[in-house]
Amino acid sequence: MNRREILKNISVLSLTGGVAGAMLPLSEATAAPAAPKRDLFKELGVTPVINASVTMTFLSGSLMLPEVLEAIESVAHDFANMHELQDKVGAKIADMLKVEGAMVTSGAACAMLLGTAACITGTDAEKIKRIPNLPGPRPEVIMQKSHRYLFDQAITTTGANIIEVDGPDAMDKAFNNNTVMALFFNAAGESSVTREQFVALCKKHKVPSFIDAAADVPPVGNLFKFQQMGFDLITFSGGKMIRGPQSAGLLFGRKDLIEAAKLNHSPHEAPIGRPMKVNKEEIFGMYVALKAYLERDHDKEWKDWLQRTQRVKSIVETVPGVKGENYIDPGPANNFPSLDISWDETKLKTTPQQVYEKLKNDNPSIVTNVAHKNGKSYLRVGVVLLKPEQVEYVANKVKGHFLNP
Ligand SMILES: *Cc1c(COP(=O)(O)O)cnc(C)c1O
Repeated sequence: MNRREILKNISVLSLTGGVAGAMLPLSEATAAPAAPKRDLFKELGVTPVINASVTMTFLSGSLMLPEVLEAIESVAHDFANMHELQDKVGAKIADMLKVEGAMVTSGAACAMLLGTAACITGTDAEKIKRIPNLPGPRPEVIMQKSHRYLFDQAITTTGANIIEVDGPDAMDKAFNNNTVMALFFNAAGESSVTREQFVALCKKHKVPSFIDAAADVPPVGNLFKFQQMGFDLITFSGGKMIRGPQSAGLLFGRKDLIEAAKLNHSPHEAPIGRPMKVNKEEIFGMYVALKAYLERDHDKEWKDWLQRTQRVKSIVETVPGVKGENYIDPGPANNFPSLDISWDETKLKTTPQQVYEKLKNDNPSIVTNVAHKNGKSYLRVGVVLLKPEQVEYVANKVKGHFLNP
């Protein structure tokens, strides 16, 4: 077969189940000079980043899985009615996560805002129109004092006041006619009210409970845990370890609240969530990413991560005086393995901070972390976001900085 015939037949061949690859020697299939791939990083002078850290929004979150990219490409050529799409994808996600309702938002921060808005407005068209400038006393959202964090501005953007409490008794007394919701920050670490007490108090006062678990997979079981505990609303980021589109997220839980949240969101023209539009590709992409995440072999993935830390360790430890040890973040956020590297700083005249800076200033930039444990600092190399071929590349770069400090 010559190249012309191949090109003519390729669509037929791929339709009949990918025999093209099997029939053609690789050299023939790739013989024609491929058009040089457009490199937009280069064209715009944007520094590519190798993420040897954790998912961070400023580093563009996560990388979408190939099946997500394929899904996006496959749906990008046709229009859809966005109400129907959100409803159908939401129903499917709700099914997958064993909850009544779900929707795709533009990230967990958007889910926090929409969930709060839903608790304030319900389906009241007048309130949806006027939020955050409702007449009367400000709506109140209860949070534990130790749970206050930067992201709670997504709550106050709705016009709600946050009422801080410390301990179950104080929380019990904080409920009043203006209370619309209570927010639990899952990764807060310190809690004066346990999740179970929190849910029970909300139920007693008939006020919806919301838990922000944005970065809290793995383990995959966390996607099911909080609805089983009785939380009414739950959010996870789409663009972290679920590896969906960076600007997507999940809001799920009670059906009536999800429906009210949708009324506060795009594609409706005016509501508070309209500036947080999610596009068709992200909605489809989020569904595909979540499905792939739930179906993945998580034990195998964990073993693969450990093999990666082992590989980095074996490379850097070829330098005398260098030691690598596994670090597994206890979570709830970032609960996965990394490698902590330390060395004899009297022998190798460099510090973790200096190696960190050098890696970061490299091109491609390699972003790691400096960790402090027991009065000692370590270079922490994350492995879960590396492409397979980047594992040795990063290890050798680190090693290079030991040899030429
Ligand atoms: C990342 C994060 C958010 C924001 O999530 P986005 O999906 O980026 O909007 C909110 N809360 C916590 C705890 C997070 O880690």
